[in-house]
Amino acid sequence: MKLIYVNISILLLLISQLAVAQITDPVATEVWEPEPRVVTAGAMNAAPSDAIVLFDGSNMDGWQHKDGTPIKWKLDGDAMTVVKGTGPIFSKEAHGDCQLHIEWRAPAEVISEGQGRGNSGVFLQGIYEVQVLDSYNNRTYSNGQAGSIYKQTMPLVNAMNPPGQWNTYDIIFKAPKFNADGMKVASAFVTVIHNGVVIQNHTEIKGTTPYIGLPQNPAHGEAGIQLQDHGNPVSFRNIWMRKL
Ligand code: MG
Repeated sequence: MKLIYVNISILLLLISQLAVAQITDPVATEVWEPEPRVVTAGAMNAAPSDAIVLFDGSNMDGWQHKDGTPIKWKLDGDAMTVVKGTGPIFSKEAHGDCQLHIEWRAPAEVISEGQGRGNSGVFLQGIYEVQVLDSYNNRTYSNGQAGSIYKQTMPLVNAMNPPGQWNTYDIIFKAPKFNADGMKVASAFVTVIHNGVVIQNHTEIKGTTPYIGLPQNPAHGEAGIQLQDHGNPVSFRNIWMRKL
């Protein structure tokens, strides 16, 4: 019986190879449907035509504190800036898989060092921190510098602009998956491009990114972006997202 199975599988293999060998028409391997829809790219870093604009400088209405109250950060020019002690803010828009563009600036005035200098963070789904820090000539632990998946994975390189200058993060995020029992069945993955430089290349996110302790994997669904109040007046501007 076993022998018959082996023979059948060999036969199937031969047939499939024969089928491949028989394709002589180039048209046979053309795929026309579906047709990718047209998206108009934004000039420079502007939002593409299908992006959800989370912040464009006109107001901070797309954001709230954890308790749902309007945010107490400062709107200045086309940016919003952390006001120490007011707490983190969350986008009202929840997300799963996405492409996120966000620009951020560490204070021009350097008044501290290490983790105390221009610290904030972009938390995907409100949970997974891509570190924001003034890492320009500012040594700290590598898995806590700008662009690290905090306390998990250091950035491949340091692409930091000097304090007072704007930085861009372009983030491609694949959300984790959980089964009905709340077990994680697929990790999140993230790619981060900092000022045009790849610093996280399809990095597995192992779980939460706590200051103390190891990553945890509580089940969750879609959630908003969190921006951290770490006590430093870090600014953000031009925030848009494309859901994937
Ligand atoms: Mg931080």
